[in-house]
Amino acid sequence: MQSVESQPLRQAFHRVLAEDVVAAQDVPAFDNTSMDGYAVVSADTLRASEAAQVRLSVSGEVSAGKMYSGTLKPGEAVRIMTGAPIPIGADAVVEQEVVRASNGFVEIGTVVQPGRNIRRKGEDVRAGTVIMHRGTFLRSAHLGVLASAGASSVQVYRTPSVAFLTTGNELVEIDSIPASGQIRNSNAYSLWGLIQEAGAEPVDIGTAKDDKHELSQKLREGLKQDVLITSGGVSVGAYDYVLKTLEELGVKQKFWKVNIKPGMPFFYGVYHDANRVVPVFGLPGNPVSTMVTFLQFVRPALQKMMGREDFEVVRLKAKIEHDIHKKATKRHFLRGIVRNEAGGLIVTTTGTQSSGALTSMAKANCFIVVPEDVTELKAGDEVGIELF
Ligand code: AMP
Ligand code: MG
Repeated sequence: MQSVESQPLRQAFHRVLAEDVVAAQDVPAFDNTSMDGYAVVSADTLRASEAAQVRLSVSGEVSAGKMYSGTLKPGEAVRIMTGAPIPIGADAVVEQEVVRASNGFVEIGTVVQPGRNIRRKGEDVRAGTVIMHRGTFLRSAHLGVLASAGASSVQVYRTPSVAFLTTGNELVEIDSIPASGQIRNSNAYSLWGLIQEAGAEPVDIGTAKDDKHELSQKLREGLKQDVLITSGGVSVGAYDYVLKTLEELGVKQKFWKVNIKPGMPFFYGVYHDANRVVPVFGLPGNPVSTMVTFLQFVRPALQKMMGREDFEVVRLKAKIEHDIHKKATKRHFLRGIVRNEAGGLIVTTTGTQSSGALTSMAKANCFIVVPEDVTELKAGDEVGIELF
């Protein structure tokens, strides 16, 4: 389990709450008005109509941050501004837009129901109740709720550090011009983003050539962090040394190869230190495979490690726009674009589905998940999607 630290509220943004937060007070703390207008005794307006306006005398005013000192009596109204406490005796607020005010009087041509425009004490949050549970990922609304409850600092889980190593003789830095046979190291960037988006702290340990000695050095460095991710070199190519080197360093394989496309050669193992366990994820190097396996396997694991209880992938059904054929073996994660049309969801693929074509991920807003045993989908068939 991750250790816990106290953080001022803004520093807790996009972190995971490590305590149940209990409200000390009701929110709102008092009945107040949601509109600018006039606080009234609703019974006064029982017979009001456009033709028979009810005339009330305005006995004062109350604005946000003030209290009305008197008690409202039948026949009276108090001018009131949004957020101001409801005066004693009043049970409704009639909006300014529907009344006529002049010379200390207000005329109302409509029946005002009790409770109109009143936000009740405790309607948002009740004192003594848990307003936010341990394991909640703190987004902007959560900061606001905690702020209104007076939680100026909160306990959050420590952010795990996630080392990532890219591997391959063909990789060059992105600011150089690749010579023939070379490619730019794009995974170092997509992985950095994925780790950040998951709420963890990326630690770039660089790039290793397909060389056991260099791999060993870099992997050793990576194992000092809470989690280690590698990209490339986990398949069955002649220079795929990552798994062998991990094994030599004492990483125990939990599984290797998963029945999905893209991403089949995915590896998972654990490294036991004196008092630490480091999960190790070996992602295939094809840029789409790297992202798919991260999202399918690494992200949920990170969320769990971070103590997050509210993480859920949004899974929906959509109608596929064109036919799809595949072999009945693996589960496919196609890159899709889903849109809402005539009240239903329609999904289309992003074009080429090669595991090297990373633009397919950039264009997509969802995965189209085609199950293992399905070989054919006809245009108009329902298919499962996972929103990004
Ligand atoms: P590998 O998993 O090492 O067999 O690599 C599979 C494919 O992914 C090869 O075409 C590699 O050139 C490519 N690849 C591997 N690592 C990266 C990377 N960091 N950035 C972009 N492409 C990569
Ligand atoms: Mg490679």
